[in-house]
Amino acid sequence: MVHEIAHVFEGDLTAAEQKVVKDFGGSEPFARGFEKYLRDGKAPTPELKNLFDKFKEWLANISNASSSSSSLTNTIF
Ligand SMILES: [Zn+2]
Repeated sequence: MVHEIAHVFEGDLTAAEQKVVKDFGGSEPFARGFEKYLRDGKAPTPELKNLFDKFKEWLANISNASSSSSSLTNTIF
């Protein structure tokens, strides 16, 4: 689930942030890297950690904006 949302999140990134994703190998490594980050809190690079943190915030915002927030959050985490 969170893997698919990582791809949605990518569409929301700035050009500079998309470059970080691209330099890391593209969409798939980024999505897998984020899944791993949620599990063990470790990011491969400081730039990616910034992005992952932003992604977590983004997830919290879309959850808060939705009335079914808890079910979305439960699905993701
Ligand atoms: Zn994928």
